[in-house]
This record gives sequence, structure tokens and C-alpha cells, in this order.
Amino acid sequence: MQADVITNQVNHLKTTFSSGITRDLKWRLAQLKQLKLMLVEQEAAFLAGLKSDLGKSEQEAWTSEIGFVVSDIDHTVKHLISWAKARKVSTPMFVQPGKSYLLPEPLGTVLIIGAWNYPLQLVLAPLVAAIAAGNCAVLKPSELSVKTAELLALYLPQYLDQNAYQVVTGAVLETTELLKQAFDHILYTGGEGVGKIVMRAAAEHLTPVTLELGGKCPCIVDSTTDLTVTAARIAWSKWMNAGQTCVAPDYVLIEKSFLTPFIAALKQKISEFYGSDISKSKDYGRIVNARHFARLTSYLQDQDVILGGEMDVDTNYIAPTLVLNPSADSSVMLEEIFGPILIILTVDKIQDAIPLINSKPKPLALYLYTKNTQFEQQVLSQTSAGSVGVNDGMMFMANPSLPFGGVGNSGMGAYHGKFGFDTFSHLKSVLKRSFLFDVALRYPPFSASKLKILKKLL
Ligand code: NAD
Repeated sequence: MQADVITNQVNHLKTTFSSGITRDLKWRLAQLKQLKLMLVEQEAAFLAGLKSDLGKSEQEAWTSEIGFVVSDIDHTVKHLISWAKARKVSTPMFVQPGKSYLLPEPLGTVLIIGAWNYPLQLVLAPLVAAIAAGNCAVLKPSELSVKTAELLALYLPQYLDQNAYQVVTGAVLETTELLKQAFDHILYTGGEGVGKIVMRAAAEHLTPVTLELGGKCPCIVDSTTDLTVTAARIAWSKWMNAGQTCVAPDYVLIEKSFLTPFIAALKQKISEFYGSDISKSKDYGRIVNARHFARLTSYLQDQDVILGGEMDVDTNYIAPTLVLNPSADSSVMLEEIFGPILIILTVDKIQDAIPLINSKPKPLALYLYTKNTQFEQQVLSQTSAGSVGVNDGMMFMANPSLPFGGVGNSGMGAYHGKFGFDTFSHLKSVLKRSFLFDVALRYPPFSASKLKILKKLL
């Protein structure tokens, strides 16, 4: 796409924003309902697109993408009126009589850049928040999930107001052009490297950014845990979407003495979930492309593969795979896996997991499976992560009352539910004074006695 086409598109949205149409709450609600209608009416097309891009099963695609966004819309529609209201705050005595409040206002025209692994959810969930907050938006879906990007470009304009919402497809060239524009906010989901490019470009216009990045998510398995349920939840959260999930466990930390029963339980769950020939399971996904397939298979060289390792280059299939105790300087230990390989690291005592986690960049998610509440408190108070799942994997994503975002290298800012509304809003501070009691203490001419009284009041 030509540079001037993108500039014109963005300028058109800015004109729409200036018209004030997106500020109207009824209009916002109508757009949100249209977005839901698109997902309902075009469900079959989107399911087929997700199947083609990532081999997603219907249930996985529906729960983690279509259904996820539909329930986000429902939650937003239910609460929008109250989120958009002025939020009263207290007013100190020295500015009485008066009242203080925060008035949410839309930021303007925003850019949403998505990643390929949940190609629908990662652009539409931020869009729900951007619409709710009264913004215009450009969506840039990932070029790697090509079918889903095409479908978004086809259907979104049929359901939403094109004067306010546009889809730009394409790759680095198009994203680079978009990043030259002066947006009022950018929400980017993807890897750290491009995150830095986005932030640098945003700095040129002093545009605020939300960066939803990734990293290596640790998973501590304490021997007090319920082994069967733990194995099921880890297997589910790891091998959903063939491990291509930003919050999937990357490495398990477990005491040596608990390793054998844990591996047996995990193996059992994998076979219950996907059968004896996993490559034939309709519920197991595929690696997005040949480049990522090669990246993942390279991680397995010279490693102790204790389960799985089967692959098929023609179909980008890699079986659920366990790697035991890779060395600290191996690429599988240094890079985010983002695929169906799970590292198992043994420790002498489970408390040793804490300094190990703290020696690495802060993760997007941390998981802890335990019945020991003292250890749970220790982990919660001594480690940092964007989100923590205690005794479950990634289910925190399903609670719109919890913000979703990273910390440190795993990102900045957050969204989901009201947090998304706030991300795309400016909370304008308002203090309204009465004309009554215009005490002259603050006005010149100043005096020692005025200052003495002020020191007591403030
Ligand atoms: P990707 O390759 O799809 O890239 C993401 C976006 O960046 C795409 O829209 C792409 O067009 C754009 N892009 C790529 N190169 C660019 C460049 N040079 N300049 C400008 N734009 C560019 O996705 P990815 O980076 O492979 O995503 C995987 C990463 O994303 C993993 O680290 C994963 O953990 C993380 N992730 C995070 C979340 C989250 O919500 N925090 C969700 C999913 C994925």
C-alpha cells in the first residue's frame, strides 16, 4: 500500500474524530453491537480462517478468539455507561467548597497492531476497548496469519463505520508507514524487538504506548499439589494452539524427587487429550509457518528430549515435547519458546525456583501449583510477573476484572474490561470551585501571619 494512501486513511479518521460522532455513547454501543454481529454472522468464515492459519480446532478457536471477544463485548456493553461517567474523588478542606472528579475522554485516533498467534482476539479485544472509550482506530493484523487478516479486512468495513475504523493489511512496509503517523495511542502486541521499534517511532510524536510483549513464563510445580489436576491444566495451557501462546508455560520448575510422577501424569494427560497419534488429532494445532518451525526444531538439537520430538516439515507439525534440564546458555533456555516444547528444570528444593525466576527478565505470566499457602505467599511476595495463575493456567485471561499486561521486559500498560477502557481514555482531572468564601490567604500581599495559617491548613 502506498504511503500517501495510509496518510489519507489516518487523516480521514482524525476528521471523523474531530466531528465528535465517536463521543456519543449510543453510537459507541451501536458499533460494539455491530462488531458482535460480525462475529456471530461470520463465525464460520473466521473459524475456517483460523483453521487455515494455525490449524486451530473449532472449540479452541471459538473459546479463545470468537467467544472471547463476544463475551468482552457483552461485558463492555453492560458496563459502558458507568465506566464513562465522571468519577467523583474527595476534595481537601483547603479547596472547599468545591467538588473534584475524573472525566474520561477519548484519546483520539489510535493504532492497534496485532500478533499472529491469536490473530482475531489480539486486534479485536483492543478494538472493543478503543470503541468503548470513544476513539477512532486503525487495525493492523499480523501478516503471518494471512487468512484471518484478509477476513478482517473484508468484514470489518461491512459492519463498522468505515469513517471511524479501518483495517490496514500488509507487513513491515505498511506498519512502518503507519508508525510515521501521529496517533494518539498505540497498542502493540508482539515480540520485544518490534516493541522497541514501535516505542521509538511513537516517541517522535510523544504518542503513549501499550506494549503487550512476551517472554519466558515460569511454572512452579510443588510436590504438595494435586498431581492429576495440575498435569491436566499444564497440558491444556501449554499445548493449546500448539504452544504458540504468550502466556503458555515455558519452563517447569520441580523438585527432583517429584519429577517421575509428574512426567507420568503429564504423559497420561497428553495421550488422553490428543490420542496415541497426536499428528492425527483434530484438536492439535500446527506451527504458523516454516520459519517458526525451523526455529523450534533447532531448539531440540543436543537436548535431552524425554517425550515427543516427532515432527513433520510438510505440515509444520511438532508433537508435544519435553526437554529435561537444558544448559543455561542453550538457545531453548535463552529465547522464548512460543511453541510446543516444554522445558523441565529440576531443583533440589522448590524454594530454589524463586532466585532462578528472579535471575531472568520479569515474565508476562507466572504459574504456581501448590497446596502450601505459606509457599504461595512466598512466591507472590518475592517474584514479579504481569499476571499470576495459582493452581491454573492462563484462566486469569477470562476474568475481565483482572487487567492483562506485562511488567518490565514483558510489556507496559494493560487492557481487558474496564482497564482497556481506561487505557484508551484520558482521565481528565476536574476541580469545580464555588464563588463563595473567597478567602484571601493565598493572594498577595503575603505576610508572616498568612503563611502561618497556610502552614496549618495545608
Ligand atoms: P508478528 O510477527 O505477527 O509481529 C507483530 C506485529 O508487528 C505484526 O503486525 C507485524 O506486521 C509487525 N511488525 C513486524 N516486524 C515489524 C517491523 N520491523 N516494524 C514494524 N512492525 C513490524 O508477531 P511476533 O513478534 O512473532 O509475536 C510473537 C511475540 O508476541 C511473542 O514474544 C509473544 O509472547 C508475544 N505476544 C504477546 C501477547 C500479549 O498479549 N502480551 C500476545 C501474543 C503474542
